[in-house]
Amino acid sequence: MDQQPPSLTTPLERLPGVGTARARRLRAVGLVTVRDALVHFPRAYKDFSGAHAFADLVEGEHAAVSGTVADVRQRTTAHGRSMLTVLVEGQGGSVRGVWFNMPFMAKKFAVGMTVVFAGEPKRAGAAWEMSHPEVRFCAAGEDPVRGEYLAVYKLAEGARQSDVRLAVQAALAHAGDTLEEAFPEEWLARKNLMPIRDAMREIHVPASLEAKDAATRRLVYQELFMLQLALRLHRAQQQDRKAAPVMVVDARLDGRIRARMPFELTPDQDAVIAEIAADLAKPEPMNRLLQGDVGSGKTVVALYAMLAAVGCGHQAALMAPTELLARQHLATLEQLLVKGRVNLELLVGGQTQAQRRKSLERIAAGESQIVIGTQALVSGAVPFKSLGIVVIDEQQRFGVIQRATLQEGQAEPHVLVMTATPIPRTVAHALYGDLDYSVIEHGPAGRQPVRTYRVVPDHEESWWEHVREKVREGRQGYVVVPAIEDSKRGLATIASAFEELANGPLEAFRLSLVHGRLKTAEKQAIMDDFRDGKLDVLVCTSVIEVGIDVPNATVMTILDAESFGLSQLHQLRGRVARGAVAGICGAVTPSGTEPQPRVDAFVASTDGFVLANKDMELRGPGELLGTRQSGTMSLFIADLVKNVELVAESRRDACDLFERDPTLADPAHARLRKVILDRWGDTLGLGRVG
Ligand code: ADP
Ligand code: MG
Repeated sequence: MDQQPPSLTTPLERLPGVGTARARRLRAVGLVTVRDALVHFPRAYKDFSGAHAFADLVEGEHAAVSGTVADVRQRTTAHGRSMLTVLVEGQGGSVRGVWFNMPFMAKKFAVGMTVVFAGEPKRAGAAWEMSHPEVRFCAAGEDPVRGEYLAVYKLAEGARQSDVRLAVQAALAHAGDTLEEAFPEEWLARKNLMPIRDAMREIHVPASLEAKDAATRRLVYQELFMLQLALRLHRAQQQDRKAAPVMVVDARLDGRIRARMPFELTPDQDAVIAEIAADLAKPEPMNRLLQGDVGSGKTVVALYAMLAAVGCGHQAALMAPTELLARQHLATLEQLLVKGRVNLELLVGGQTQAQRRKSLERIAAGESQIVIGTQALVSGAVPFKSLGIVVIDEQQRFGVIQRATLQEGQAEPHVLVMTATPIPRTVAHALYGDLDYSVIEHGPAGRQPVRTYRVVPDHEESWWEHVREKVREGRQGYVVVPAIEDSKRGLATIASAFEELANGPLEAFRLSLVHGRLKTAEKQAIMDDFRDGKLDVLVCTSVIEVGIDVPNATVMTILDAESFGLSQLHQLRGRVARGAVAGICGAVTPSGTEPQPRVDAFVASTDGFVLANKDMELRGPGELLGTRQSGTMSLFIADLVKNVELVAESRRDACDLFERDPTLADPAHARLRKVILDRWGDTLGLGRVG
């Protein structure tokens, strides 16, 4: 071969022994190059460890034995079942593998093959017997003793485990030595990390469990470290990219802002506001994530930040995930700001061309001081005169913020992102290492926890009686119906649920129905009536999930609660945890006997952080965190929940390194720099590092 020696970018097809047909099957799994195969980490291992000598076998104890296939026999038992028996003869003994009703297994065996059986041996006369053992087929000349832990890979239609195993092993054999160690020698020793070439081999073809664990730790550490460092570099670049307006909140301005608030701020709100004020006073754009459970009082913090900008002669933008919420924010701010002259502007899709043009003119002239809208607000087409701060509410609905598209050719505004989906601090650090992080741990005092019940069919009638009692006392309530709003059937379900309630348990009250299919104006009119107390009970889909704030509404009923996610349930409950009056919440499930882990967790705790942890446990972090993890930010091997300790450790190390060598200019960090650019350069636009 006069070709280049294989490297990480070599197509697998070009490696000896892979072949065109297998390469095609590998493509279905997403494996094209050597690198793809190497980072296709095993999802599990089959245990072929244990005695390899027949003399060491103990009845009933898991073990593996190897030998040569001497006989393959298929027959039908008296009960009509198919039975396959494969006799394997090895050093000092023999073992029969037995399979029932798996006739296709027969094709895999041929007399003369070398195999390893793993399972629980039973004595059967002179031989041993294993029922449905794990089988490892050894290639000619392969040592059956090596590879006691056999990697199992994620597959796709048409591909086999053996395809992936072979590709990975070929990649290791032909290009494993081209892997470059990113960490300096001294670092590996200090952190007790396995060198990359060993780690890559041991994770795919472990010599022992310990070696596999050490390899995993090394690779997880590397991935998390690189991510943290990339985010740190990204942030540094953001900061020196453009100057943001310097906005100093002096005692007078602070006093003026506080005078507008209808209540004393809580200590947590004060602490967060101090952090924000410090950021605003610097010329680097603020990039801060504010977390706080539903109802913890984030809106007021945002208002403070926006009024600070206005007080310093700049504009503020508040971006909500939906038009309904934008309007809701407008109403809230109007209420909070009755005492003074701040010009609010609404910019949403449902406006006429003429209205929009007028709005844009006022924004361009700087007359509009706080502009509230949806995502379109920051599309770049809105000509702010001098945008000082952007507040993004309920960020999880937007996914990754594309800061670069926020605004072209203007000074960079400060950015505050608010989220009510509590993310454990370590995970937030890992995912948002490029943002500063503030948290409101405790909401306003005097909050009553919402008493929450699981309502099983037998108790439904008494639950509705409970609801009626509250409404008769003058309270309002919500009934949430799950629905796939896009489908006709979904709409029919909501409508019929509404009919049933209106003609049944809630007959005596003023009811209305809101769902996603209504025009915004209709929705708004109903919401206004509800807020004004002209309606008793609002039947709705999860359109009310985020941000609706009606303090007199204290009764929440969630139908088919098991069909909601845990954090969604918690958001819904947040709607009735607003005022000084204790809320109650009924999670109605159609069956009383089946365990419902999400509903049960929901009933057991009202702490958003506890529930977020539980949610991650139940469904893994990806879904909960949205695009930031699942899209471009996906991780190959690290699991942010399982690897919390390594998240923290790698974060410390990344910050340390950044302090010492912020541009990675030290020759000792050259390879580290290369690895980081290869992996994250495009995603995070790190082109200019160094
Ligand atoms: P979040 O957006 O975090 O879910 P909000 O900002 O909507 O929460 O606040 C929830 C409720 O608590 C609102 O009705 C708000 O007026 C009230 N609130 C906020 N801060 C305070 C405070 N410091 N004291 C009393 N009530 C407060
Ligand atoms: Mg809010």
